[in-house]
Order: sequence, then C-alpha cells, then structure tokens
Amino acid sequence: MKLQENADLTSYNTLRVPARAAKLVRLRSEKKLKELIKSGFFESDTLPLGDGSNLLFVKKNIGSAIKNEILGSEIVKETKETVLIKVSSGQNWHELVLFATKNNWSGLENMAYIPGTVGGAAVGNIAAYGQNQEDVFESLTAIDLKTGKLEKFLKSDCRFSYRESIFKRELKDKYFVTTVTYLLSKTPQYDVSYHSRYESLADELAKVATPPYSFTTSPAL
Ligand SMILES: Cc1cc2nc3c(=O)[nH]c(=O)nc-3n(C[C@H](O)[C@H](O)[C@H](O)COP(=O)(O)OP(=O)(O)OC[C@H]3O[C@@H](n4cnc5c(N)ncnc54)[C@H](O)[C@@H]3O)c2cc1C
Repeated sequence: MKLQENADLTSYNTLRVPARAAKLVRLRSEKKLKELIKSGFFESDTLPLGDGSNLLFVKKNIGSAIKNEILGSEIVKETKETVLIKVSSGQNWHELVLFATKNNWSGLENMAYIPGTVGGAAVGNIAAYGQNQEDVFESLTAIDLKTGKLEKFLKSDCRFSYRESIFKRELKDKYFVTTVTYLLSKTPQYDVSYHSRYESLADELAKVATPPYSFTTSPAL
C-alpha cells in the first residue's frame, strides 16, 4: 500500500481533469482496506478509483481516494461446460478478456478493448456489441466503506440495467468492490451479428483481431 497526502489526481482520470485528494491510498489488498477503515483513517467522503475511464471530477478537492491496485484471479469451479472465475477488482478488464479468449472461454469477447478495471466494469455494468457484463456475472464481494465489513452481492442485489448498477446509485461511494466472479462458457457462443450491421467497424476490428477474436497477445492474469 502507498499513501500520499494532498495528492494530484490529474493522472488518475483519462480526461485529465485536475482535482486533489487530501489522502490517496494505492491499495494492493482487501485486508489493508479493512484495517484502514477500522482504524478510522478515511475522511467522510471516500472515492473508489479504478482506471478513471468513466470519471469526471466535479469538485476540486475530495477527502480520500482509493486507487484500486488489487490484482489476481482464481478458478472457483470448473465443469465440462463452464468455468467460474473470481477476479480481483483492480485487474485490467481487457487483460481478463484476453485471458478468457486464450482459454476458449466465451462470454466476454465482444467487450474487448473497453478501458478500465474489473471493478469499474461491474459498477458500470459495461456493454458492447450486444454483450453485457451482467450476462456472465455471478456475484461480487465489496467492503462497506463505513464498517470495513466484507459483503457478497448476488446478481439480483446489484440491480443491473443497461450500463447501470446499484453502485452507481444508492450505494455510490459506499462500498469498494474487491472481487467479481464470472461464469463463462466452454462452448463458444460467438455473436458476430452485431458487427455486420456496421460494416466499416467490422473492417476496423479485422485489423486487430481475426474472427472469432484470436487476439495476438495473451498476458497471464
Ligand atoms: C475510449 C473509451 C471507450 C469506452 N468504451 C466503452 C464501451 O464500449 N462500453 C462501456 O460500457 N463503457 C465504455 N467506456 C467506459 C469505461 O471504460 C467503463 O465504464 C469502465 O468499466 C470504467 O472502469 P474504470 O476502472 O476506469 O472505472 P473508473 O472510471 O475509475 O470509475 C467509474 C465509477 O466506478 C466507481 N468504481 C470504480 N472502481 C470501483 C470499485 N472497485 N468499487 C466501487 N466503485 C468503483 C468509481 O468511483 C466511479 O464512480 C469507455 C471509456 C472510454 C474512455
């Protein structure tokens, strides 16, 4: 964990809007966050920060910001047909898509190249080319920023709708998402019909990936 006071947040959002945080924590573990909350470390307003690709600062000064750098993933359960994978929320979303496609696990591929973290993807319920994050979502864990308690949220708890979730509404800045679990299919269910409606886009995609999405790089998670 790294702590900075009066931190400049300009480089923590993709629009490069200037803002400052009285305290900035670069967080590498769930355990550390629980300890900090229980010790009364945070100011009243605490902002979870992913990669800042869906953020617009409207205040010049905020109390505390928690930059998510919690990494890792684990296979929770695997059957002949499916794989249940739990991913730490600071993991890069596109790297997760690459990891899944490399293993021929289907369900995320149309959402390749969306910037941001896995936590940000769940909070924003990202979507692209007919595929939605919620379609493969199983559950998430999040820490209550007031009590430090770790809680599990099932799909129905998250109140997903198009690019929406409870974490953008009633629970905004109240919980820090720490892991997200996805159920992926081992039977490819590629949907490329969306692309054919946008021929120029299909041409652009063909420059970076060979249908059905055999990406050239495949970093390990
Ligand atoms: C060029 C570009 C293309 C994009 N294309 C798409 C697209 O095709 N489809 C789409 O759906 N979106 C798209 N987006 C939007 C954006 O990429 C997604 O919303 C992304 O998931 C945001 O993730 P992030 O880590 O950057 O979140 P941030 O921008 O850091 O945070 C977004 C919100 O989520 C909260 N948050 C982040 N992490 C956590 C956490 N761990 N716990 C609790 N709250 C958290 C933040 O407080 C903030 O309110 C695009 C953005 C850009 C810049």
